[in-house]
Amino acid sequence: MTYDRLVCANCAAPVSEGRCPVCRANRQRLQQENPFAGLNPIALVALLAVLIAAVALLAHQTV
Ligand SMILES: [Zn+2]
Repeated sequence: MTYDRLVCANCAAPVSEGRCPVCRANRQRLQQENPFAGLNPIALVALLAVLIAAVALLAHQTV
């Protein structure tokens, strides 16, 4: 991760160590910019759409 090399402006320790609240806040913010973290809501919506389609298909087949 890119934040491994960041040094905190507050405590001058690596942000990845999370020694102070500023470090932890920065680390959390940077982790949220991870593409996998941003994918989760989209994946949930896609999963929901697939479930609705599957239910609709099953309902259509049984009737
Ligand atoms: Zn810090």
